[in-house]
Amino acid sequence: MTKGKVFLVGAGPGDPKLITVKGMECIQQADVIAYDRLVNKELLTYAKQGAELIFCGKLPGRHALIQEQINRLLVEKAEQGLIVTRLKGGDPCVFGRGGEEAEELAKKNIAFEIIPGITAGIAAPAYAGIPVTHRDHASSFAIVTAHGREQKGEDHINWQALAQGIDTIAFYMGVGNLNHICDQLIRHGKKPSTPAAIIEWGTTAQQRTITGELSTIEQKAKEHQITNPAIVLVGDVVQLREKINWFDNHSYEMLNEHSLIK
Ligand code: SAH
Repeated sequence: MTKGKVFLVGAGPGDPKLITVKGMECIQQADVIAYDRLVNKELLTYAKQGAELIFCGKLPGRHALIQEQINRLLVEKAEQGLIVTRLKGGDPCVFGRGGEEAEELAKKNIAFEIIPGITAGIAAPAYAGIPVTHRDHASSFAIVTAHGREQKGEDHINWQALAQGIDTIAFYMGVGNLNHICDQLIRHGKKPSTPAAIIEWGTTAQQRTITGELSTIEQKAKEHQITNPAIVLVGDVVQLREKINWFDNHSYEMLNEHSLIK
């Protein structure tokens, strides 16, 4: 039997229309779609009739399917000759384990493609009116996971390099860890008055944004009960939101009224 193929696809950050054309084709043509928790479920309505939809969701700290099971599933389905779309929130290679799954497929000689997606650390700020770079404010940008590993003594982040060398920093999975993030950045040289924002459920109708400074943002996040998924963004670019904030629930509805993809 001819082997199938696996497409590792970025579904985009939330707004279903932020998937790529190629990503949408992969959804439409798949025999099997294995999707993660943060994928907008609306995208699944474009699957062909009879396609098998498998939830591989990862609730923080809990895994519906553990990674090895997911790897095995992708390999098995492809070996049955099926087209498999592995759908992940944002970009598959940004804290999405796309690399690990690709390694496994390569090892097993399964054909695969990686279809990039729009990552939350760029898209959520953009919808909040914050460009991650700007000629006058930021010429470097870093994407960092702040997943609480320091509690196990596993903080591998080079805080000094981040605090002193990078203008804009997007922290993924950072909400539970805000105290540590702000504390380390200040300790390593970022001014306590550095602007900071948190964007929760970015690019969706539920998007919420709070802004403050490194020294105040944790308190504000508590007051507003901000939870994951959220991007913690640190840097002077946050100030631009005052001028170019454009998105609210109303504009979300407007955007989707004139929809190519309903
Ligand atoms: N591959 C994804 C990231 C997966 S890690 C990407 O490229 O975007 C999951 C983390 O991504 C969440 O904890 C949160 O920090 C961030 N995230 C994902 N979707 C988000 C959204 N709509 N708004 C804000 N943050 C989001």
